[in-house]
Amino acid sequence: KAKTNMFLISREEAKTLYKTRSKFSHKGTYGHSLVIGGSYGKMGSIVLAGKAALKIGAGKVTGIIPKCGYSIFQTAIPEAMAITDENEKHLENAELLIPAETICIGPGLGTEEKTVNFLKEVLSSQKKPLLIDADGLNILSENKELLKNIPQKSVLTPHPKELERLIGKWKNDFDKLKKAKEFSKKRKIVLVIKGAYTITIAEETLYVNTTGNAGMATAGSGDVLSGIISGLLAQNYDSAIAAVLGVYLHGKAGDLALTDESEESLIAGEIITHLGKAFKHLL
Ligand code: AMP
Ligand code: MG
Repeated sequence: KAKTNMFLISREEAKTLYKTRSKFSHKGTYGHSLVIGGSYGKMGSIVLAGKAALKIGAGKVTGIIPKCGYSIFQTAIPEAMAITDENEKHLENAELLIPAETICIGPGLGTEEKTVNFLKEVLSSQKKPLLIDADGLNILSENKELLKNIPQKSVLTPHPKELERLIGKWKNDFDKLKKAKEFSKKRKIVLVIKGAYTITIAEETLYVNTTGNAGMATAGSGDVLSGIISGLLAQNYDSAIAAVLGVYLHGKAGDLALTDESEESLIAGEIITHLGKAFKHLL
């Protein structure tokens, strides 16, 4: 029987995961991330994810969004590109996708019937690891037959409610970890269980994060994490490392934001603006 390894991730460990940039690199070196999501009234989620992917260092970001989100997305992130679905309010047409190093799918996506089919087509068209969060996870929970279409080594980032929909109710914390580990092994994916002390599960290894604070219990905080991990995947970090380093930097940026903010006043966008300081703290 395989033995479970567990690691506590603080600055020292996170530092060893980080890769420096080469002087002779260009934006192609750092990959292209497609951020796929948003729907009428939920465009902020995919804006936060897209911005976070750029701020963590992805070379390029393109939003795949419904038509209603065009001006919102382009205005909020001038550095990103956008491709719009002809549908006004939610995504339906998977033919919109262009080749890229990785995909972040789910923030603000909605769970419309045609969007369920959209997700199915996106998953079956991909071979490289991608990041799935939020409504992407909710769709998978409601359509468990789609789980087999997830590319190996993809990263899933459920909060406690999303995790329960995905793996079912647990009796206690041990049972939760057991179920989560079984799920991660069966589906060959990296599972990030979000909360205070976020736990990343990759096969037989558990990584427990040490950064972050209760100020991060605020709308959009998870969307920022999705963008961060996707931006690291774009830069060719291995899935488990992208998840562990991304969770660490997300929490650290939230902690550094508390220099100016209180836990109450902290909002998700401020996690993004503090990512630069989080990197500097690591080096
Ligand atoms: P979501 O619920 O999808 O917006 O994700 C919330 C994000 O904030 C996750 O990355 C959590 O780990 C983080 N977070 C929420 N509450 C706390 C807390 N009390 N302490 C530390 N991090 C938290
Ligand atoms: Mg979320």
